[in-house]
Amino acid sequence: MHFTGQVYRHPIEARTPLLEVTAGCSHNKCTFCTMYRNTPFKLSPLSHVEEDLIEMKSMGVEIKRIFLVNGEPFILSTDKLVEISNLIHKYFPEIETITCYASVKSLKTKSLEDLKKLRKLKYNQLHIGLETAYDPALKQMNKGFTQAEAYENIKKLMDAGFEWDAIVMMGVAGKGMSDINVKETAKLLNELPPYLVSIMSTSVSVGSELEVLRDKGEFIEPTEREMLEEEKKLLELLDFEDAYFFGGHVFNLAPINGSLKIKEKIIKEIDNYILKLDDHILNGTYQRPNI
Ligand code: SF4
Repeated sequence: MHFTGQVYRHPIEARTPLLEVTAGCSHNKCTFCTMYRNTPFKLSPLSHVEEDLIEMKSMGVEIKRIFLVNGEPFILSTDKLVEISNLIHKYFPEIETITCYASVKSLKTKSLEDLKKLRKLKYNQLHIGLETAYDPALKQMNKGFTQAEAYENIKKLMDAGFEWDAIVMMGVAGKGMSDINVKETAKLLNELPPYLVSIMSTSVSVGSELEVLRDKGEFIEPTEREMLEEEKKLLELLDFEDAYFFGGHVFNLAPINGSLKIKEKIIKEIDNYILKLDDHILNGTYQRPNI
């Protein structure tokens, strides 16, 4: 298999076969992210993609779901994504879902017709790094899109028949900004409900732009307690039930997952973690190792 540099996939895809179609991330500028800083973006040759599919086929297993790596394969042209899916269908005609990370920035490059075409080819359940729908935080995190663009492009995605995973970051707007951050984010999720809500705690990675902003006093880190309270507030504001809540990211101090149908139970579980954790942890900020 061809894999270049460090490879990332959503934790919920732990059992999904990975297929490299790009290396690095075409954006590679999010303030908090150092994942691909040392891996230049490039498109994998189709010959490599096909060789990997042949190798996967030789294992003799059925593949119904596949996850394209790396950072943001959905930035590839529609024609290229069609070519990749044609290869996948050639070796795995049973395929039901082709998924990957995506961003609102990559959705901006696709028309409704493009998205409908890709949906027919089984692209679905994209993991979208929304992080927040609060405009000042989107700007500070240098996500490459605005709140208005998030509404417009996620609606277009849903109109094309896609389900989507909303990856949202607790604490991303900084200390004292939880209320506005969750209010704006929950409003978008309620209007454009995802099938999955994935929560990640904000951590200032060594070597990130966010570290520079923090050291200059332009980003004030929320405490761990604030991030857990923010998670509870977000859950309280969500008005849809037909989705799964994934809080099991390694960055999260309360690794809780479950259907939004039982969100009151999830909120209670977060409260239990708050009761169990030491005050010096809850009232401080914890730098996770760079991933
Ligand atoms: S968060 Fe995602 S889109 Fe942003 S730089 Fe990292 S991999 Fe790229």
